[in-house]
Amino acid sequence: MIAASSTRPQPRWQTLWRESITDAQELLGLLDLAHLAGSLPAADAGFSLRVPRGFVARMRRGDPHDPLLLQILPQLAECDRRSTAQLDAVGDGAARAARGVIHKYHGRALLIASGACAVNCRYCFRRHFPYAEETAAAQHWRDAVDWLRAHPDIDELILSGGDPLSLATAKLAELTDALRDLPQLKRLRLHTRLPVVLPERVDAELCAWLARLPWPVAIVLHANHAQELDAGVAAACAHLRAAGAQLLNQSVLLKQINDSADRLCALSERLFAIGVLPYYLHQLDRVQGTLHFEVDDAHALQLIESVRQRLPGYLLPRLVREEPGQPAKTALQGP
Ligand SMILES: *Cc1c(COP(=O)(O)O)cnc(C)c1O
Ligand code: SF4
Repeated sequence: MIAASSTRPQPRWQTLWRESITDAQELLGLLDLAHLAGSLPAADAGFSLRVPRGFVARMRRGDPHDPLLLQILPQLAECDRRSTAQLDAVGDGAARAARGVIHKYHGRALLIASGACAVNCRYCFRRHFPYAEETAAAQHWRDAVDWLRAHPDIDELILSGGDPLSLATAKLAELTDALRDLPQLKRLRLHTRLPVVLPERVDAELCAWLARLPWPVAIVLHANHAQELDAGVAAACAHLRAAGAQLLNQSVLLKQINDSADRLCALSERLFAIGVLPYYLHQLDRVQGTLHFEVDDAHALQLIESVRQRLPGYLLPRLVREEPGQPAKTALQGP
């Protein structure tokens, strides 16, 4: 007789995550771009290359300007240390309320549920955030739940990070179990890129957890280009919706990646086709090492105006910027 194993098998998404590409030479080889290897910067110890193989499979081979590749490939321009860029451009340090809790806006608190992501996006402010000390999971959520209990005006909790879905589903359930006795919570929101970069994360266990939550759930995905949204992502979105979640998307406006009206329209249309509404289009947070992605405000406003003239209002994302000390995200205004 064979004894049953006492350890549960690892979910498939965790295996796929572990098998992500972290080596630039390997990545370029897979994309028939090995000749570019000499022009890459030396490995960045703090924010290395990381991308799931399934996301790489959506890139066009032989195209150094592929809009998915440009989001994840380290560039020499990251070494630019212009003084106008900051480390904490969005003022998260000042808005820290408790370990892993950021409170900036009325009624909403954001929980840094995990410092990990399945992908390292080169434009991300996260490259400078002190995650080791700041994730709410570190203390088994105790500090965060205590803080919420003392703040009955918070009726929406946002799980963010990093990526909250990088946590095992059992860990997420531990948190939501601890939140159940907070009478003020009306909504739960997740900010996650995992269903886009690693749609296998949306497995039966995750959907069962979602479906059992006592609050209405909004999931804000993060995709920047229609090419990211293949059949695997569409299936993941269908499962999330079947589990009762409302799906929205936020994008970052990124030079060479989505800074054209055609690309922004294609993204909105593809999102709608898979059951997701566009929510925010963010102007880049000006953090060190990301300024080569920046699109200036005048061009950004022109782009959004072109999209407004071509698409129904509900497919128009709100063009916003995060400004420290403001009561909400700031909408960009014309001159
Ligand atoms: C962006 C953000 C939110 C959510 O803002 P919405 O406009 O409600 O999407 C909440 N808290 C923090 C700290 C944020 O940065
Ligand atoms: S998934 Fe989101 S938080 Fe993670 S690196 Fe990309 S943009 Fe940053």
